[in-house]
Amino acid sequence: MAKVAFIGLGNMGGPMATNLLKAGHDVTAFDLSAAALAQIKAEGAKVADSAREAVAGTDYVISMLPAAKHVIGLYLGEQGIASAISKQALVIDCSTIDAESARTVGIGLAEQGIAFIDAPVSGGVGGAKAGTLTFIVGGASQDFQNAHTVLSNMGKNLFHAGAIGAGQVAKICNNMLLSILMAGTSEALQMGINNGLDPKVLSDIMLKSSGRNWTLELYNPCPGVMDNVPSSKDYQGGFMVDLMAKDLGLALEAANHSGSDTPLGELAHSLYVKHQQAGNGKLDFSSIFKMFAKAD
Ligand code: NAD
Repeated sequence: MAKVAFIGLGNMGGPMATNLLKAGHDVTAFDLSAAALAQIKAEGAKVADSAREAVAGTDYVISMLPAAKHVIGLYLGEQGIASAISKQALVIDCSTIDAESARTVGIGLAEQGIAFIDAPVSGGVGGAKAGTLTFIVGGASQDFQNAHTVLSNMGKNLFHAGAIGAGQVAKICNNMLLSILMAGTSEALQMGINNGLDPKVLSDIMLKSSGRNWTLELYNPCPGVMDNVPSSKDYQGGFMVDLMAKDLGLALEAANHSGSDTPLGELAHSLYVKHQQAGNGKLDFSSIFKMFAKAD
């Protein structure tokens, strides 16, 4: 079993660290939130007073932080922890950030002789709790192989997308497509409803026809069509509009950076930002369905 430092014990990082503990790893945790630290301590982790203290002598350093500025600050900032990390350790950042920032961290750590991979996840809080996340990794092949020791205890599918930053690019390509599918499915269902169709019947028809897609199969956005999905629970739980809007912003940055033409991604971004600004940021992203409802 490995010695692991885990930094960032929020909605995702908390349950991910719990799964490492359940697998028998020796986990030392750090978060700015005392409540998050108390919870992981109760589950058997050691807790540190600082990130520098947490990483000392560990085989793996895993971070799960909100955004790029937190990740860059943690590793390379004025109080950055790079110099406290063992040269033999592998640093795994699982946060969703832009590929350029991931490369910046990779280069900064490489200058100190430390290996780094970006390993953003798909699967949300449910996947983090169940240990069924998909990890999409960017980095050297040997580091990807090395990471299996810990990633396989937190996820079911591990993909190697390419060099450092490639994990982030693949993740936002996926989420951009997902947002387009969700908005398109919502629009089609609302049009059917407006023309007198039962959304359950229409969903069954489209599921067996060429409009079939993941949102219809597993995550129908129309309340009452499926049990146990956010749309049937007032859009609570799941993947927040705030996070989808963030990921679409990252997707557009990547598109600009690479000169890619992404008109549907831009439209999805503007729809999700509008939906967010209308006060729906904390709802599940399938709540975009409400945006297309006919005004009474
Ligand atoms: P969160 O806000 O719940 O948790 C972030 C944690 O990081 C907090 O506990 C915060 O106190 C801590 N933190 C911030 N700065 C820190 C620092 N310098 N040192 C130590 N701890 C620090 O966020 P989350 O939902 O867990 O998401 C984390 C990342 O995962 C984000 O990049 C997000 O985009 C990505 N993600 C989230 C989901 C989801 O469904 N929530 C799904 C896939 C990917």
